[in-house]
Amino acid sequence: MELPVIAAALPAFGWALHSSLLVRRLATARRDPLTGLHTRAGWTTRAERIATRSPRAVALLVDLDDFKTINDTHGHAAGDAVITATAARLATWTTQRGITARLGGDEFAAIVTDPAHTPGTAALHEALHRPVTYRGLVIPVSASVGFCHLADLPVRTLTDALSAADAAMYAVKGRGRRNNTPRP
Ligand code: GH3
Ligand code: MG
Repeated sequence: MELPVIAAALPAFGWALHSSLLVRRLATARRDPLTGLHTRAGWTTRAERIATRSPRAVALLVDLDDFKTINDTHGHAAGDAVITATAARLATWTTQRGITARLGGDEFAAIVTDPAHTPGTAALHEALHRPVTYRGLVIPVSASVGFCHLADLPVRTLTDALSAADAAMYAVKGRGRRNNTPRP
């Protein structure tokens, strides 16, 4: 290729590279680096779509119980392993019929189009309370889960569903730290 042709093409190439890096950075911001789940920003748009379109949608919030003790007792890396395992368990339970996010720290959210398409709440409870093995340590795990059936809301919005799921989750947390996932 002639030199003047290459010189003329360079700015266009530079912009294409810049745009592609920008797109990749935006995509990264929508994924939590530790778990690979959506971040709140990446989750919300899709979750709103499910909330609007699926009459039987169920939103849920999950918060690990006494998670700080795991960090304090076994170290931050062990805590990371518990967060990663919880993310995988919730994503597996949600299946392809929903979408899962790590909202931050030890808090997760999910929305499913229809709970009948999931393995059920007993299976979720069992999965979230399975001990995590990390470097030979068997770490007990407990989680509180709050559910909201969007059909029960006066106005079916994601914001109201999350607020109801949050209240339900804290009610569960207050009731006890084990065997505490209620029926939705
Ligand atoms: P509660 O039972 O009331 O939910 O209390 P908790 O001990 O689970 O603590 P809480 O949910 O209030 O706080 C979560 C803690 O998670 C706070 C922070 O130190 C820790 N944390 C936040 N992000 C990370 C992370 O990425 N990795 C690890 N290992 N710890 C984190
Ligand atoms: Mg917690």
